[in-house]
Amino acid sequence: MHFHVLTLFPEMVLGGLKTSILGRACDKGLISIDAVNIRDYTTEKHNKVDDYPYGGGAGMLMQAQPVFDAYKSIAEKYHRKKPLRVIYVTPQGSVFNQDMARAFAQEENLVFLCGHYEGIDERVLEEIVTDYVSIGDYVLTGGELPAMVMIDAISRMVPGVLKNEDSGEFESFHENLLEYPQYTRPEVWHEKSVPTVLLSGDHAKVDKWRILQSIERTKMRRPDLYEKYNLPGRALEYLKQDKLLHMDMIESIKRGNGEVLAVRADGVLLRDKKSNIHMVTAENKDAGERLLSFADTEAELFVCHQHFLADSVKARFGKKSSAACCQAVYTKKIPFSVDWPWEIRTLDESQIDVVYENYHELADRDELLLALKEGRIYGAFSDEELAGFIGLHEEGSMGMLTVFDTYRKQGIGLTLEKYLINCMLEQGHTPYGHIFIDNQISLLMQRKLGLKICPKNIFWVY
Ligand code: SAM
Repeated sequence: MHFHVLTLFPEMVLGGLKTSILGRACDKGLISIDAVNIRDYTTEKHNKVDDYPYGGGAGMLMQAQPVFDAYKSIAEKYHRKKPLRVIYVTPQGSVFNQDMARAFAQEENLVFLCGHYEGIDERVLEEIVTDYVSIGDYVLTGGELPAMVMIDAISRMVPGVLKNEDSGEFESFHENLLEYPQYTRPEVWHEKSVPTVLLSGDHAKVDKWRILQSIERTKMRRPDLYEKYNLPGRALEYLKQDKLLHMDMIESIKRGNGEVLAVRADGVLLRDKKSNIHMVTAENKDAGERLLSFADTEAELFVCHQHFLADSVKARFGKKSSAACCQAVYTKKIPFSVDWPWEIRTLDESQIDVVYENYHELADRDELLLALKEGRIYGAFSDEELAGFIGLHEEGSMGMLTVFDTYRKQGIGLTLEKYLINCMLEQGHTPYGHIFIDNQISLLMQRKLGLKICPKNIFWVY
C-alpha cells in the first residue's frame, strides 16, 4: 500500500514514520511512504504558499494553486482505474477510529493532505478531497501529526506489517471492547503477583478471564464504547427477564430481523428490519426517553411494552392513536397432532380479493399482497372451498384469523392456529400473537390452545 503525504514539512513526516515497525514494513516493500513538498509546486516567485484570508480574520491560508499542483503530481502517476482517495486531515472531519483504519487499509493508494496556518483555500478542497478526517476534538498547528497517526494505525492493518497477525485482530476496539490487562516477567513485582489464572496453562480459563476483564474494563473506562458491545446478546439477556412480555422482541432478534438500536440496564429499543416497526421496553419513563432518542425520527409504528412509553412515543413522534393488546405465547415445544379433516395450504396472490374483502380493517391491500407473495397466509379448504385463513404478520406475530360465516363453530379457527403453531415450531420459532384486550373470544381461544397470556399489556402506537 502506498501513502502519499502532501505537506509543507516532508522531513517531519518521513523522520517520524520510517522507524521501528513501519520502517521495517517500508524496507520489506509492504508499504511505501512518500512526502511531497507543496512548496515545490508554487508558481509564486518568492516561493510563498500562503496569503491573507478574504474578508479578514486572524492568520494566513494555504493557497489553492500549489496544493492543487502538488496533488496533480501524484494523481498523474497513480490515478488509474479508480479515483485517488484524498484525505484532508482537519479538526472538522469525522473522528478517526479503528474501523476507518481497517477500511482505509483496503486501498492501494492513499493521499493525505496536511494543512498549516489557518487551513487551506476551500476551492481546492472541493476539487480534490474525498474524505475529511480528524484525530480528535482539539486543534493542532498542522496536519502532519494527524496524518502520521492515521498512517501508523492504517499500516498495522496491512497484512504482514505486524509480525503476528493476531495482535492486530484481538486488541482494543475489536468488537467494541478494550483489551484486557497484560503481564510479563517477573511473576511478582513490587509485591504484586500476576493473576494466577494466567499461570494455570488452562487456555479456556485464560480466555474466559480475559473476556470478562475486557468487558469490565470497557464498562469502567469507556461506557460509550460498552454501549455498542454485543447489542443483541445484551438485549436478549435483558428481555429474557420477562419472556411473556417481550416474546415479540426476543423473536425479532432470534429470527435475524431485530436491529438492536440501544440497550441499557433498564431497557431495550430495537427496529424490526422486516416490518420497520420499532419495539421498545423500559423500566421507567426516563429510561424510555433515553432509548427513544435512538429511534428513527421518521418511524411510523411502535410497539411499546409499557403504557408510559406509549405516551412518550405520542408526544415525541406526534402519533395520535394507540391500541392496547395482550401478548399470547405458545411456550411449549410440542406440536399439535394432525387430526383435522380440512386441507390447509399456503394461499397465493390469486386469492388477494377474498383475503382483502375479509380482512381489510387492520391491513391494507399491499400488505396482504406481500404476505401472500411471501407465503405467509394459510387457508383451510372444505371440499375445495376456502373456509377461512390465518397468517403471519410481517414482524412475525400470528394473526389475521378469519373464518367465513357458513363455516363457523366447526373448529376451523382452532385448527388453523394449531397448523400455524406447528409450522412455527418446525422452524424453531416460538409462536406468539397480539390480541386486542377486548377480543374476549380470541383470548379464550388462545387459552384453550394452551398459549400463555401476559398479564401486562402492550401498546401499538401509530
Ligand atoms: N482554522 C482551522 C479550523 O478552525 O478548523 C484549524 C486550522 S489548524 C490550526 C491547521 C491544520 O492543522 C489544519 O488545516 C489541519 O490540517 C491540521 N489539524 C489541526 N487539528 C487537527 C485535528 N484535530 N485533526 C486533524 N487535523 C488537524
